[in-house]
Amino acid sequence: MDKFSEYFVSGQWRDSAAVREVARLMAPCDDVRLEEMARQARALTLRHFGKTMRLFAPLYLSNECVNICQYCGFSRTNPILRTTLTPEQVGSEAEYLAARGFRSVLLVAGEHPKFVSADYVVDCIARTRACVPSVSLEIGPAEEPDYRSFTEAGADGLIVYQETYCTEVYERLHTSGPKRDFHWRLDCPQRAANGGFKRVGIGALLGLTDWRQEVLALAAHADFLMRVCWKSFLTVSFPRLRPAAGGFQPEAPVSDRDFVQILCALRLVFPQIGLVLSTREPAALRDRLFQLGITHTSAGVRTDPGGYTQKDTLAVHKRVAGKAVPVIASEEGGAGEGATEQFAIADGRSAEEVSEALKLLGYDPVWKDWDAALAQANSPGI
Ligand code: SF4
Repeated sequence: MDKFSEYFVSGQWRDSAAVREVARLMAPCDDVRLEEMARQARALTLRHFGKTMRLFAPLYLSNECVNICQYCGFSRTNPILRTTLTPEQVGSEAEYLAARGFRSVLLVAGEHPKFVSADYVVDCIARTRACVPSVSLEIGPAEEPDYRSFTEAGADGLIVYQETYCTEVYERLHTSGPKRDFHWRLDCPQRAANGGFKRVGIGALLGLTDWRQEVLALAAHADFLMRVCWKSFLTVSFPRLRPAAGGFQPEAPVSDRDFVQILCALRLVFPQIGLVLSTREPAALRDRLFQLGITHTSAGVRTDPGGYTQKDTLAVHKRVAGKAVPVIASEEGGAGEGATEQFAIADGRSAEEVSEALKLLGYDPVWKDWDAALAQANSPGI
C-alpha cells in the first residue's frame, strides 16, 4: 500500500512489530518498571543525539482560519482578535528571533486560502530566510506542487498533526471546513516528503480521546513514514491540550506519569526519530523531560501573530458572520492589545533562560536544526 491512509483503513498496522512493541511498553506498569524504561530511553537518546537539544521558535503568521476545530482558539466562530502579518511584519518578527539566537524558526498559520495563500507563504519563507537559515512550516495541508514551491523557496521542514487518529472523535471535533477530510490530512506528511521537505513532523494532540490508542496510531504512522519517506528526517510530537479561547475541556486528560511513559515507549521503539516538546508543559516538568528522550524544543514562545515585536501597533479585527469588523482602540479587549493567541503556554521562560537551564543540566543548546549545505554535500553526485 502506497499511502498511509490506505494502510490505516486496512487495520494491518496493528500487526506491525513496532506497534506491538509500543503497545507492550505502554501497558500499565509499576514505578520500578517505568524507572527502568526512563533509564533506557535516556541512554538511547544520548547514544543517538548526544547531550544536545535543538531549539526553535514558532512565528505566527495569521490566526485567520476557515475551520471549526472545537479545541482551538483560532476556530472560525471564536470571537477573537484576528490578523494576518504582512511579509514585512514577518521579516521584523524573524529578525527579532534571529537576534535572540534562533537559527531555526517554525512559521505557523491557521488554514485560510485567501489570507494564507501559497504565494503568501513563499513570500514569508523568503523574508524569514533572509535572517534565519532553517525554516519550517505548520500550515494547512497542501498539494505536492505547493510543497515543492515551498521547499524551492527555502523551507526545509513541514509539520502536520493529525490531532486525533480516532475517526469518530475527529468527525465530532472538526465540524466545518476542509479539515473535515481525515484522509487528506493523514497523507499530508507523505505529500510533503515527496515535495522535497527534508524534515517531516507528525503528532497527536493528547487529551481528545484515549491516549494509548492515539499513541499506537501515531507509532504506526511514524513506522510507515520511516519506511516510505526514508529520505526525510522524522519528528514526532504529542502535545497535551492547553486552555484556549472557546474553553474546550480535555475529554481524556493525560497525567504527567502517562506522558513520561509515552515519551519512553516512543524513544525505545524509535531510537533515531526526533521527539519534540513544546512550551505547553510547565518549566519544571520540561527540565525533567529534556533528560529522558526529547531532542527538539521551543523556547521564549508567543502564539499570537505579531506577538514578539508588534503587539501594540497591530491592526486587528473580529469576524462577524464571516465579515471582518475593525476593532477600535478604546474598545475593551480591542486594538492595542494585539491579536489573540492560539493557546496559553505553560513555560514562560525566555529563550535565554531555557538555554541556561539546559546548560545547567549538561546539555548543549543547538540553535540550528538543519544545514542545507550538509544536505547538498550528502547528495548523490556532489
Ligand atoms: S487547529 Fe488549525 S485548522 Fe483548526 S481552528 Fe486551529 S488553526 Fe484552524
